[in-house]
Amino acid sequence: MTTRNLLARFLPGAVLVSVLAPGFAQLNPFTGADEIEQSLHKLGELGTMLMIAAHPDDERTQVLAYFARGRHMRAAYLSLTRGEGGQNLIGSEQGAQLGLIRTQELLAARKIDGAEQFFTRAIDFGFTRTVSETLQKWGHDRILSDVVWVIRRYRPDVIVCGFSGTPADGHGQHQASAILAHEAFTAAADPARFPEQLKYVQPWKARRIVQAAMFSSKQSVLPPAGEADTGAFNPILGYSYEELAVLSRSMHHSQGTGAMRRPGGGTSSFSLVNGDPSSKDLFDGIDTTWNRLPGGGAVGAILGDAIRGYEPAHPEKVIPQLVKARPLMAAISDPLAKIKLAELDETIALCAGLWMEAQAKQFETTPGSKLSVTATVMNRSTAQVTLESARLEGMWNGAASNPPAKLALNQPLNVDFTVEVPAAQPYSQPYWLAKPPAGDVYTVDDQGLIGLADTPPVLQLRALLTVEGTPIEVVRPVHYRYGDRAEGERTRPLIVVPAVAVNLTGTAELFPATAPRTIHVSVKANTAKAEGNLRLDVPAGWKVEPQSQPFQIAASGEQREMMFTIAPPAVETTAAMRAVATVGGREIGAGIQVISYPHIPAQTLFPPADVKLVRSNVKVAVKKIGYIMGAGDEMPDALRQLGLDVTVLSPSDLEQGDLSRFETIVCGVRAYNVREDLRANQPRLMEYVKNGGTYIVQYQVGDSPDPNAANTPPPQFPPEIVRMFQTFQGPANTAPVTTNLGPYPFSVPGGSRYRVTVEEAPVTFPHQDSPLLQYPNHISPKDFDGWVQERGLYFAAKWDPHYQTVMSSHDPDEPGLEGGELWTRYGKGIYIFTSYSWFRQLPAGVAGAYRLFANLLSAK
Ligand SMILES: [Zn+2]
Repeated sequence: MTTRNLLARFLPGAVLVSVLAPGFAQLNPFTGADEIEQSLHKLGELGTMLMIAAHPDDERTQVLAYFARGRHMRAAYLSLTRGEGGQNLIGSEQGAQLGLIRTQELLAARKIDGAEQFFTRAIDFGFTRTVSETLQKWGHDRILSDVVWVIRRYRPDVIVCGFSGTPADGHGQHQASAILAHEAFTAAADPARFPEQLKYVQPWKARRIVQAAMFSSKQSVLPPAGEADTGAFNPILGYSYEELAVLSRSMHHSQGTGAMRRPGGGTSSFSLVNGDPSSKDLFDGIDTTWNRLPGGGAVGAILGDAIRGYEPAHPEKVIPQLVKARPLMAAISDPLAKIKLAELDETIALCAGLWMEAQAKQFETTPGSKLSVTATVMNRSTAQVTLESARLEGMWNGAASNPPAKLALNQPLNVDFTVEVPAAQPYSQPYWLAKPPAGDVYTVDDQGLIGLADTPPVLQLRALLTVEGTPIEVVRPVHYRYGDRAEGERTRPLIVVPAVAVNLTGTAELFPATAPRTIHVSVKANTAKAEGNLRLDVPAGWKVEPQSQPFQIAASGEQREMMFTIAPPAVETTAAMRAVATVGGREIGAGIQVISYPHIPAQTLFPPADVKLVRSNVKVAVKKIGYIMGAGDEMPDALRQLGLDVTVLSPSDLEQGDLSRFETIVCGVRAYNVREDLRANQPRLMEYVKNGGTYIVQYQVGDSPDPNAANTPPPQFPPEIVRMFQTFQGPANTAPVTTNLGPYPFSVPGGSRYRVTVEEAPVTFPHQDSPLLQYPNHISPKDFDGWVQERGLYFAAKWDPHYQTVMSSHDPDEPGLEGGELWTRYGKGIYIFTSYSWFRQLPAGVAGAYRLFANLLSAK
């Protein structure tokens, strides 16, 4: 959201508070009587709302919580992207891997606010100022078709836009989300639009589309469409919806949106964009009871009786009513009735205290192998429950032989399966990463997968039960549940992995001269007794020694590291290399990467074992480098490819180590934002420079006041947005960190004004003779070719005259910015501030960026 940058100002000292323990976040936060009562109310409520915005963290969580938890409606958030272009405050994952983390963070958030989650195929390619760049990169029709598809599938009565579709939204992707939502509102109802979808879904006309209160007062041009009492307290859950929103947003660990609850009420307001007007409430004039469906009246009456008869200590007493409603509900053909039928079966299971799960013996399996799965069913109530049948479906289909069986009170019944994993079973890649993306859009061939937040399970249990004489059906994914000594109970999805994984150390290898380099490739076995050959495929002109190597690995989980020598051609060029293992006749050209954080289930992906080989002349005149890690980046390994001796500095190195043994010290991205020990040792680093060292500071999240903003009036925020900021601000105890980064003052403001988001933006040299452009590499405009995502971010806005600038760049139609790189002599040494995005360019193997950075390292 536009708030991201504002929020970022509050990150450094913001207290991360989570009422829910990390491991607990994997479970349903509301269980027992809370959950049953919510489910009973939800059965009787047929309203549906869909919120649409661009990124994970754009959503108005309090609005989702209000409609899902307070009004018991179906509520969902369609985030056009998975947030791949955002920052990562918890690790070094970027791009698709960050998108994977943020997907899971959203799913964890949805467990708290009770809403569902969808995405389109669009990839967040980073900050952009314009909607035209956004729609050109995504393809207007392609992403519109995804939004239409989600609307036709989810069938919302009301669509809520998070943004206005005007430049007031800031980020071009924010603007695009509202523009596409407005168009999709009409297109979804029109059978002539995207007719290929009508094989699976019907056209759908939502009653109205509204816009949530905006950050500017511009919304007043639209008629008001009602309010929602999002500050109201829910005594059953023990939280107000705004409190739930804070807890939910605090799941976005990677974005540092952890926040504190604050007492206080308040409402959220909306304006009408299109459709039927409403005055008080978003659902004015919409029948959200069972009466809206033919034959629904009788169902509604029975469910009303069930809610009135509900006793928290005896939920089984409402089962007779629920089973009475079931055949009536099953007879209604409307898709909404089918969804409600599944909810009804889950509610009956809840009221019977039914325990049901399908446990795999391990979390991973390989194609062609056998896997033990045990389904466990237990009735924890006095209701009469019989397990009629149990079958697994997905990559293997088969029924259990032992049922039917009557379930005795509190007696677990186990049903065992031996699953034969097909030899040609694909690996469990997240579905949107199974094929390479087409530009900034994921490739998804199966229309049924488009929109889904997560990959469907490879295997699921379908159990047919009879409860008090009525059949119900319950479906559970096959998972692996285990105890972690620190975190307690955890679950992982069952995944299919290759027999061996071929892992490389990076995605690009630089050859700064013609000398051969040794490349390490590790082969990790996922089965016992894995044996085969590993080879590296390189194009003509490159030489590999040896061509292939055999391996034998005895135990699953062990790995073997193999070394190959690669000799580059003399001419400057780039090439693609793939590492391929052959095991039992099957070629495996993929690695395995597990992304594991306490607040989300572990995620596994299979990156192709591909490396970009870059032969490019890069000279560097230093050897010993100290590196201060910040919030996580891959720069140390990238710098080692220049043949440098890189030492990562620990807190004690900073406090008392001998810094003078390093010719140059490099500060990692956002290190000043996250490391108190670094801020505390700033005088030692300045002393180091004074005595002759070179100190390079990469980008830090800006938090200084904008010295050029005096003429800009403060934006007019509606009260609920002001409250949200106050919520995220936490205690006001943090002085800005970016006012004291160097030996002389300069300021790095928050916000998005001082950055260059277009990666092709021209770069000019205000001081052509700057040594940073001449030695040891002569820099030319060609060195700015092939950059990825952006030029840089959080440039300095104003600086002391001691500093010299080096480069100037700007986004289209914006003024030139020279604050992206500043340098000065200080004592006998040199200080450099550079917020060009080296942390993206070097790991991506951008040769020109290597040359530019080598000059900074070699400054003298
Ligand atoms: Zn956003």
